[in-house]
Amino acid sequence: MKLLEGKVAVVTGGTRGIGLAIVKAFLQEGASVALFGSRQETVDKALAEIQAEDKDAKVMGLAPDLANFSAVESAMAKVKETFGKIDILANNAGVSAREPIYDYSPEAFDKVIQLNVNSVFYCAKAVAPIMKEQGGGAIINTSSMVSLYGQSAGCSYPASKFAVNGLTKSLARELGKDKIRVNAVLPGVTRTDMVAALPPEMVARISAPIPLGRVGEPEEVANAFVFLASDKASYISGALLSVDGAAQV
Ligand code: NAD
Repeated sequence: MKLLEGKVAVVTGGTRGIGLAIVKAFLQEGASVALFGSRQETVDKALAEIQAEDKDAKVMGLAPDLANFSAVESAMAKVKETFGKIDILANNAGVSAREPIYDYSPEAFDKVIQLNVNSVFYCAKAVAPIMKEQGGGAIINTSSMVSLYGQSAGCSYPASKFAVNGLTKSLARELGKDKIRVNAVLPGVTRTDMVAALPPEMVARISAPIPLGRVGEPEEVANAFVFLASDKASYISGALLSVDGAAQV
């Protein structure tokens, strides 16, 4: 029996990196998946890649503006219309930041918060009534290891991920009565396009202080999403699950 057989999932930022790995892992475990991306073109590219690997994959793609709550609501309604329900929301779309505060414009700061925090709230707010009506669901937010101790530049990024942890803990308390579980996964340095493009010496330098001695693979982060989305995690809510090789930097 597959872990997510018969379930319907939405994955934001599902076109590449960790999000695409989550989409593929959910599909392999039997779910129907709607992936959201920022542009229709990248959505179509991800759908083509998935369908080339499995022509029967139960997958659809949309590109709603995650900064616009009614666009998010319409996209969730479209998923429900297509697949009949929504059991799982993986709130994964996110951007990082590296600017020192001296060069950091308020507009650039706001942009990170808008996507990393506000869109997590918008997506959760749009699916919660659907899940409540169905009798439950699972929301899993992508946080980061820096949500535990900050980082030395690009302060919006850890600030946004501290907020994601706060949303996770608070919504777990608020939505428990509706049988909606809310958890977060905190990835460490993960081999997405950005890390894959680095020279091997640099990857080795990044890996050295990590107790497990290497960066993580997107599939290893996706496995945590599968577990938290599945009925195997039926009594887990409000958890912040680190997938970072015990990194502490
Ligand atoms: P990525 O840049 O490879 O992918 C980001 C995804 O978000 C893409 O699918 C993109 O379409 C989507 N996205 C970006 N801007 C958007 C916008 N304005 N509107 C809608 N969608 C938008 O990133 P990734 O490394 O796979 O990161 C995914 C998540 O994991 C993020 O929340 C990130 O903060 C978190 N994370 C990543 C790492 C890492 O090392 N890669 C570590 C910790 C946390």
